[in-house]
Amino acid sequence: MSTTLLKTRRLVAHYGSVEVLHGIDLALSDGEIVVLLGPNGAGKTTLLRAISRLVSTQGAIEYDAVDITGWSGARTARAGVGHVPEGRGTFVDLTVEENLRLGSLARPRDQRVRSREDFALVYDTFPVLAEMRGRQAGLLSGGQQQMLAIGRALMARPRLLLIDEPSLGIAPLLTRQLFEALARIRNEWSISLLIAEQNARLSLDIADRVIVLAGGRVAAAGPVEEFRDGDVIKRAYLGETDGGAEAIGVKK
Ligand code: ATP
Repeated sequence: MSTTLLKTRRLVAHYGSVEVLHGIDLALSDGEIVVLLGPNGAGKTTLLRAISRLVSTQGAIEYDAVDITGWSGARTARAGVGHVPEGRGTFVDLTVEENLRLGSLARPRDQRVRSREDFALVYDTFPVLAEMRGRQAGLLSGGQQQMLAIGRALMARPRLLLIDEPSLGIAPLLTRQLFEALARIRNEWSISLLIAEQNARLSLDIADRVIVLAGGRVAAAGPVEEFRDGDVIKRAYLGETDGGAEAIGVKK
């Protein structure tokens, strides 16, 4: 039986006086990959930031059966919620290895001893990072920097990893490799993934379940099989226009 790892209830978020999440209910089971789809401005980034407690919210967030609504971002990270932000946030002047080492600092102090093993696991998942371990992160390609950002988050041994638009600005072939790596991470590291994406086609290949956000609300949600032909996503997104399907990379 699967256990619920994350649950939000009537989650509301504001920027100033403007409400941008209008009562989100979602649940994610241990070991699940959930893809959060939605057009620009739907609230995907805000929802991920709300879960990792980087924006304040009303409503409830439960992680591992504990109410974390009042927690800080640092406490949430230490409890095992990793976050790879859009734009990656790697330290461009530091080497690949130094960036990864920083990732392990997000762990509680008494759990940092296994970092040698963690380096090996990250390098095994992304061999290109091993080849480039001494190189400045700023000299890596966009795709390699995304792998580094994910690798850095893995160094903290999260139980839940939130990833914001991993395919942004990356060539399709690299995006495919990246998604394959994410599927391996779930299988081999037993990490649950919540991935915000606009690239529906590739992300559906690895998802167990899909949530479509539109205008700060859940417009559709269900097992990935229900979303394969794109009609449900089209309706939830932009109406049933062909242009809408193209915009989100869904085959017609
Ligand atoms: P994108 O794919 O463009 O990042 P998104 O689905 O992640 O879109 P959010 O970035 O969460 O959406 O934005 C949700 C809404 O909140 C949008 O209307 C956006 O303009 C607004 N917003 C986002 N960040 C801020 C901010 N720092 N201050 C004010 N409004 C913001």
